[in-house]
Amino acid sequence: MIFGWLKRRRRTKLRARPFPDAWDAHLATHVPQAAQLPPTLARKLREDVLVFAAEKTWVGCNGLAITDEIRVTIAANACLLLLGATRPHHYFDGVLSVLVYPDSFRGSVGGDDDAETMGEAWQHGPVILSWSEILDNRTDDRNVVVHEFAHQLDGLDGEMEGIPPLSRQQHERWEAIADREYRELVGRAERGEPSLLDYYGAENRAEFFAVVSECFFERPSEMAREHDELFDWLAQFYRHDPRDWLRDASRGARDEEPEDDAPYEVDGEQFSLGADHDAAFARAAILETTGEYEAALAIYDEVALHDPDDAEVWARRASTLSELERDDEAIDSAHRSIELDDTWADGRRIRARVLVHAGKSRDALADLGWLLRANPEDADALYLRGSAHNDLNEHGRAIADLNRAIKNAPNWADAYAERAAAWRARGDRRRADADQRRAHELDPTIDAAD
Ligand SMILES: [Zn+2]
Repeated sequence: MIFGWLKRRRRTKLRARPFPDAWDAHLATHVPQAAQLPPTLARKLREDVLVFAAEKTWVGCNGLAITDEIRVTIAANACLLLLGATRPHHYFDGVLSVLVYPDSFRGSVGGDDDAETMGEAWQHGPVILSWSEILDNRTDDRNVVVHEFAHQLDGLDGEMEGIPPLSRQQHERWEAIADREYRELVGRAERGEPSLLDYYGAENRAEFFAVVSECFFERPSEMAREHDELFDWLAQFYRHDPRDWLRDASRGARDEEPEDDAPYEVDGEQFSLGADHDAAFARAAILETTGEYEAALAIYDEVALHDPDDAEVWARRASTLSELERDDEAIDSAHRSIELDDTWADGRRIRARVLVHAGKSRDALADLGWLLRANPEDADALYLRGSAHNDLNEHGRAIADLNRAIKNAPNWADAYAERAAAWRARGDRRRADADQRRAHELDPTIDAAD
C-alpha cells in the first residue's frame, strides 16, 4: 500500500472542482484577506477550502444548522494558516470534526481555552467554535478561527505548550524571541499598558502562540513595526508574509528588507538566503500543491546547495523526490535530514513515509517506533505502521495498529480502507467488507467494495 495515495488522489479531484460563486460571496463577506491575495495564492486558498470543507465532519450544536456560509468561512480562515505550508500537515489532518455553536459555549463544555480541555482536544479531537464570535471578528482584530487552528499547529508535536514542531534552529530562535516577548506582554498586562498583542496571550505560552498568530494574520503591518523579530519569525514559520498581500494603509511604509546574502535565482525568480529561505520554500510549497514537483525540486536543490546544513530542506526535498517516484534519491535525502537533526519529528515522519512509498517498509519501522515512543497515540504514525505491516504481510500487526489509529481518529476513511485490506488478506471477507463500506461512507471517492 502506498501511504496517502488514496488521499492524494481524492484531494486532487476535490481541488479541481469549480469554486461556487456563492462561496466567493461568503469569502468576500467574511474573509477580507481572500480578496487581497495574488492569483496563485488566491487559487491555492480556494482549492484548500474545497478540500477542507469536504473532508471535515461539520457538526452544528445547540440547534445550529451548518450552512455553506459557516463551512466556507471557517475553512478559509483556517486555511490562511496553510498558505505557505506543505505536506504532511496540509489540511489539519488531525482535526476530523469542527463543532460550531451558535453562541458562547463556555458554560456547556468548559471553555475552548481551558488547558485541560485543549490537552484532550488536540489529538484528533474536534475544534469547537462559536459562530457569533466568528461574526464579531469582522469588526475587531481578533480571529478566533486562526486562534484555534494555531493551537492545532502547536499541538502537532504532541504537546500544546506554545512550541509547534520545529527544526532545531527554528526552535532555538523561537525560545529566545518568545521568552522575551511573552515576559513583556505579561508585564504590560499586569501594568494595564496598551498592547498590540491581546492580553489573553499572557495567560500562558500556548495562548501566547495562538494570540501572536492572530495578530500576524490580522494586523501584520503594525506587528512588523512593533514586534519585528517576532513578526519575522512567524513569517518564516508560516512561510509567507501577509504584508505582501494585505494592501492595508501602512503597506507603503514597509521597510526595505536588508539582504544578508546575495540572491540566487530559480526559474527566473530571485530568492535571497534569508534565515530560513521562507520565500523560496513558500514558492516551492505552492508548486507542490499544484503538482509541479520538478519545479519545486529545483528550488530545494538550490536551497540545499546554498545551505547544506538545513535539515528541513533535505526532508522537503526527500518528500518531493518521492512524489516523482525517484525513491533512491528520496531516501538519501531523507537520511541526510535525520543526520543533521534526529530530534525533529516531521523529519522522522517524512523519512518513514518515503521508505514505505519506496517499498522499504521494514526500514521505516525504526522511525515509526521513534514517533510512537514520543506519542503512542499518534494516529498518523499508527496508520503508516499499519500500512507498513500490511506491506510486509504482517496483517495481524497491521490490524492492531489500525485498530489504535481508528480509535484515535474514528472518522478516518483511509484507515478503514487499509484495515479492510488487512482483513481481506487474512480471508475475513465479512470484516473486510464492513471496513470497506465504512471507508466509502466516510469518503465517497473510496470504492464501496473491493
Ligand atoms: Zn486559546
